[in-house]
Amino acid sequence: MRKLMRAALALGRVTVTLALFGGLVWGGYLALYHPDTPLRDEWNPVKPLRIADPVTPITKWKLSRALSDPALCQSVLDASSVSASAMSDLQASEVCHIRGRVRLASVGAAKLKPLETRCPIALRLAMWERHALQPAATAHLGTELTGIRHYSSYNCRAIRTPSGETSRMSTHASADAIDISGFDFANGKRLSLKADWNGAAPDAAFLRAAQQGACLWFNTVLGPEYNALHADHFHMQNTGWNSCG
Ligand SMILES: [Zn+2]
Repeated sequence: MRKLMRAALALGRVTVTLALFGGLVWGGYLALYHPDTPLRDEWNPVKPLRIADPVTPITKWKLSRALSDPALCQSVLDASSVSASAMSDLQASEVCHIRGRVRLASVGAAKLKPLETRCPIALRLAMWERHALQPAATAHLGTELTGIRHYSSYNCRAIRTPSGETSRMSTHASADAIDISGFDFANGKRLSLKADWNGAAPDAAFLRAAQQGACLWFNTVLGPEYNALHADHFHMQNTGWNSCG
């Protein structure tokens, strides 16, 4: 009799454990996939990145998914206030190409002189504009950013060093980088790295915040403190190991 009781209790424990586990799995599934889930999109790993969503601990993960999937990258841009029209790939040579080519004219409220680049650069710029540049413009200058000036993205050339050109190709040869030279604002203010990096305190503070912000959204950022070749621009790159100089 006692044996029977023990067996019945054990069976009961297993049933409860299975029911709890099943409930958790089902609850988790509903939380992620149910159309009326209370889980906000920016916290939901099955929802694609949206540029305007608040940044959460999973935003970087969503971004890396979009960066590595050309169709997803383009759809994230298409669903946001980014003017980036998809173009066919450019293949100029073995080492010079633009894969996932877009023609980029604006990110958020900031216009750019239209340029051709890769979708991942456009997407990183859009995250930078929304989550770093606009907050820094408000905080340091009390105005809105309306323009980002640049020295282009794609350039079929070798790496430049202070001692001359090397034989290694630049990341610009595959449009995996962009050079940013200055910023325009709604109140008519214009800042350039060359003139204002060590300029008036709020201007210099905005430019430093812009670089720090770029370091969050790009893998390599080189600026005026790096070397004389970067005195007038931020070199911001898709690839690298989180160098920020
Ligand atoms: Zn560069």
